[in-house]
Amino acid sequence: AAEATPRRLSPRAAASPTQGDARWGDTSSYGAKKKHRVFCQLPNGDWALCTVLTTSGDESVLKVSEGKVLRLKTESLQPANPEILDGVDDLMQLSYLSEPSVLYNLQYRYSQDMIYTKAGPVLVAVNPFKKVSLYGNEYIDAYRNKSMDSPHVYAIADAALREMKRDEVNQSIIISGESGAGKTETAKIAMQYLASLGGGSGIEYEILQTNPILEAFGNAKTLRNDNSSRFGKLIEIHFSTTGRICGAMIQTFLLEKSRVVQCAVGERSYHIFYQLCAGAPASLRERLNLKKVDEYKYLKQSCCYSIAGVDDAQMFRTVTDAMNIVHISKEDQENVFAMVSAVLWLGDVSFTVIDNENHVEIVVDEASKTAAELLGCSIEDLNLALSKRHMKVNNENIVQKLTLAQATDTRDALAKSVYASLFEWLVEQINKSLSVGKRRTGRSISILDIYGFESFDKNSFEQFCINYANERLQQHFNRHLFKLEQEEYVEDGIDWAKVEFEDNQDCLNLFEKKPLGLLSLLDEESTFPNATDLTFANKLKQHLNSNSCFRGERGKAFAVRHYAGEVAYDTSGFLEKNRDLLHMDSIRLLAKCETSLPNMFASKMLAQSDNSISVPYRSSAADSQKLSVAMKFKGQLFQLMQRLESTTPHFIRCIKPNNLQLPAIYEQGLVLQQLKCCGVLEVVRISRSGYPTRMTHQKFARRYGFLLLEDVSSQDPLSVSVAILHQFNILPEMYQVGYTKLFFRTGQIGKLEDTRNRT
Ligand code: ATP
Ligand code: MG
Repeated sequence: AAEATPRRLSPRAAASPTQGDARWGDTSSYGAKKKHRVFCQLPNGDWALCTVLTTSGDESVLKVSEGKVLRLKTESLQPANPEILDGVDDLMQLSYLSEPSVLYNLQYRYSQDMIYTKAGPVLVAVNPFKKVSLYGNEYIDAYRNKSMDSPHVYAIADAALREMKRDEVNQSIIISGESGAGKTETAKIAMQYLASLGGGSGIEYEILQTNPILEAFGNAKTLRNDNSSRFGKLIEIHFSTTGRICGAMIQTFLLEKSRVVQCAVGERSYHIFYQLCAGAPASLRERLNLKKVDEYKYLKQSCCYSIAGVDDAQMFRTVTDAMNIVHISKEDQENVFAMVSAVLWLGDVSFTVIDNENHVEIVVDEASKTAAELLGCSIEDLNLALSKRHMKVNNENIVQKLTLAQATDTRDALAKSVYASLFEWLVEQINKSLSVGKRRTGRSISILDIYGFESFDKNSFEQFCINYANERLQQHFNRHLFKLEQEEYVEDGIDWAKVEFEDNQDCLNLFEKKPLGLLSLLDEESTFPNATDLTFANKLKQHLNSNSCFRGERGKAFAVRHYAGEVAYDTSGFLEKNRDLLHMDSIRLLAKCETSLPNMFASKMLAQSDNSISVPYRSSAADSQKLSVAMKFKGQLFQLMQRLESTTPHFIRCIKPNNLQLPAIYEQGLVLQQLKCCGVLEVVRISRSGYPTRMTHQKFARRYGFLLLEDVSSQDPLSVSVAILHQFNILPEMYQVGYTKLFFRTGQIGKLEDTRNRT
């Protein structure tokens, strides 16, 4: 990558076709000839395939569909590919690689339930939002014995397996896309294929059963997706030297724990809360003192209790069955559910004001009694932890009484951290059960299911972290693709230095530079006692305004120019979310509990706290100081990237065709925006800036040789090819001649094909 000229283009500019731009195919010389198929843009912005009826002056009359005729400026038309290229299974086969042709091709396939399409080395998967008959043993066998070769997740999984064995290199399948695009389903489909081919020991079944567990505790209904993963996940599947699955390891990233205590109207908290309340058998229900979901404050606030087509009670049984299979003991399961119930009851703990300074104590009622009992502490201890704070000021121990707002925050922080600890603990148990231990001799295939780039009306700390991660993944993606391109050019002896390649290093520097990058500045500000979200925003503007990837906005806002477009962030809540405080009193409370899980949570929290970092923002040295959320995430991300760097990557980009979660609706604008964000248009662009069309000398000579005016029958394929290039005036900058192949810029072959078809 170092030898290429990195170039920063705004993606929007890069993606809008300019007439006559070689990278878009030779559109300028493309006249709108009669009967030609072209793309025209309808008033709603969608592109439609149409036929030219007549052209006069600078206008063309077009037939858009039966009975619908439009008159448009000829120069606004985009050439369409010849009919034989309709619905090709690799976008790279398209002669014109413009946005409308890419959109049309995907739509054409989608309408026939061909939801998978290749974009060179990348698999594009368009969410069908319905059952499609593309899966199951028959298909698995077909891909295994290669009787089927159309693009598919199975084909990707198969390639990963094959390359793992052949090259003895670990593999990775990197799945991205926005919420609801189908990442998690795709990951499961890939896992099924691997389990089927690498199965035998029985452990593959355990691996598949981790899905319902992690989904119950880490997925929730959101406005975008009824089963939205609120964490990132990497699963590393290990294979023995004989190619059998022998274990797995799961790593999770950044669980959205705020959802436990608050979620938007129409969304739900984590599935397990509803599943437990609906599905727990009577005896368990009694032991955990479970109520109905609409009786808990934490669940009540979003006014949403069920998901269409989902039976929470049934799901509860699926989850407990899965827990049995991954060897989580009945006793541990009961402990887990006690914590789930404790979190719900904590939400119902209320406070009463005891003096005129708004100081509070907890109300002794069913909620506080049950919460204390489930956690295994006394109600006095719970009261102490939630209504008072022990601090050391000038080496003197003092006790501060909490106000109503402080106590409520403390309670919610406790609930969030108990839940997050529970999630982590579950992942640990699963890992223990699936561990390969010392038997680890072979190779692995990792599957990464991680939230894609996000840009909403309001973007907060979560989007900031997610988009930072995507920036890293995009760099990995670019470098890999570029490497592949480069290898092919070098192999065939052509000059590849002319290939432009967009690097996002500048944006990564904006995040990571020390001491004046976004992450460092965030951490520094998080340690100041009097810092606010506004002082943080001002600090960013003060230090970063000259950075071309950064733009200060009014008040608490700033914008980052990401590879996928500019995103405006609102710093409200950044500092608090980054600090993610849990007071020492709460940790001490957990440590004191007589049940096993809170103790474990507490020791883990203490182990994670890093006292070497100074804590000037709190006067209390007794409080625990842990790594900030952003730093922990950055650490995880670096570790992830390191792991991925040593693998051969396979990329799957999931696309959501509509926001309604409904089948058969394909919104071009929405698809286009995702193709840009998840780098598919970038792949197309990289290839376009290179030489995407490749044909061997032989094939080229055979296919177009007959168009030559001179007799070349005695000549070798290379000479014939060169003669064709000359006769058709293909400009030297539009092609390169390699040892075995000819390499063309986009659009060139289209012109030859047209002539060929007319002859
Ligand atoms: P999030 O980022 O919110 O977790 P996601 O990308 O993981 O989203 P999924 O949960 O995998 O999205 O998919 C959303 C829904 O789309 C699924 O619940 C399912 O209904 C449907 N879906 C996705 N892929 C397929 C498929 N291959 N076949 C049928 N339905 C699918
Ligand atoms: Mg998901």
